[in-house]
Amino acid sequence: MNLEKLFKNADPVVVEILNNALSEKEISAKEGVELYNTIGIDFHLVGLVADELRRRRVGDIVSYVVNRNINFTNVCIKQCGFCAFSRDFREEEGYFLPNEEIVRRAKEAHQLGATEVCIQAGLPPDMEGGLYESICKDIKKEIPDIHIHGFSPEEILYGATRSGVSIEEFLSRMKDAGVNTLPGTSAEILDQKLRDKISPGRISVEDWERVIKGAHKIGINTTSTMMFGHLETIEDRANHIAKLRDIQKETRGFTEFVPLNFIPSEAPMYKHQLHEGIREGASGNDVLLTHAVARIMLNNYINNIQMSWVKEGQKMSQLLLMWGANDFGGTLINESISTSAGSEHGQLLRPKEIRRMVKEIGRIPAERDTQYNIIKKFNGTNEVEEELDKVTDTSQFGSYVELIKINKFNYKNPRRK
Ligand code: SF4
Repeated sequence: MNLEKLFKNADPVVVEILNNALSEKEISAKEGVELYNTIGIDFHLVGLVADELRRRRVGDIVSYVVNRNINFTNVCIKQCGFCAFSRDFREEEGYFLPNEEIVRRAKEAHQLGATEVCIQAGLPPDMEGGLYESICKDIKKEIPDIHIHGFSPEEILYGATRSGVSIEEFLSRMKDAGVNTLPGTSAEILDQKLRDKISPGRISVEDWERVIKGAHKIGINTTSTMMFGHLETIEDRANHIAKLRDIQKETRGFTEFVPLNFIPSEAPMYKHQLHEGIREGASGNDVLLTHAVARIMLNNYINNIQMSWVKEGQKMSQLLLMWGANDFGGTLINESISTSAGSEHGQLLRPKEIRRMVKEIGRIPAERDTQYNIIKKFNGTNEVEEELDKVTDTSQFGSYVELIKINKFNYKNPRRK
């Protein structure tokens, strides 16, 4: 790409950083902050360079995974300020899906072509230490070839605590039970002072790193995430991305990075204005920059930058694919966490809709598995209608709003166990 002409009119400091990035040099957190501060032509150049690095690393393919989210309980002992999903165990809206319902949902998704189930939930107060293992074993018994992507570092720590074993021992039990990869959620911003403000009592930075490194060490890969657009500064974001890069240098266990924009409407810390200066999520240009800066800073370390269509919507997602992102994420089928926080972008995106959006911007859609192995490329006229594409009535999957009203899944119902 010839950017020389455009560089002539740009800020020399920004040009130097971008030239270094194009020469495959590592960009520091401080330089990342400079890129975050760009406006005008400099802003657009950040996007162009991110797009070029994306092209070099992963080409024109835009991948997606056919998966289903199963958030098996919303009852949680924590009260993270950004979380509109969790309920206290005494609340009417608390639900808990028994293993047989989790397995039923996984089977239904598998029959519709899903290769992955993504399992995450709240932390119920009376949870048995072996619950997560039993969920994995029950799923694998019925569907041995489905990939279990589940249990965030917060849940792994909770499972270990409830089982009375170390994080490392618990991870190895989870591996034996059939977990394949972990979501790198519960990261938010990896800065302890900020975490103590937005989610007091949440897993510490130190323990988050311990779970992630422990998982990578025994061959369980994870994703990585960052929640932005709330109280954090751009320095916090750049430091967070640099921290993930440092972990990746050591372990090579991250498969992707997903920036997650803060959804404010129902989040307690925004609704009740708990902190001075709290923002209502990041603006459009900030979202673009965040994906681009991530691509540039993570270049040569984490190849896949995923955008969240649930949080950003479909058209913004298309733009993000031109600002460093290369992965569309999953079809989801059920999505409770952003939906409960007020996101209005739905809970199912059919594979054919993803492919259409990718083709509209001149790129090549491809279905992948959780570990980014390409299952099928759609680079011509080989368009097919898959099982999930044929679904017209999504009410068969049940929505979050319905789920919290179903008596048999009510947390207080003694039959839940
Ligand atoms: S983010 Fe997770 S740990 Fe925090 S309150 Fe929500 S469900 Fe609980």
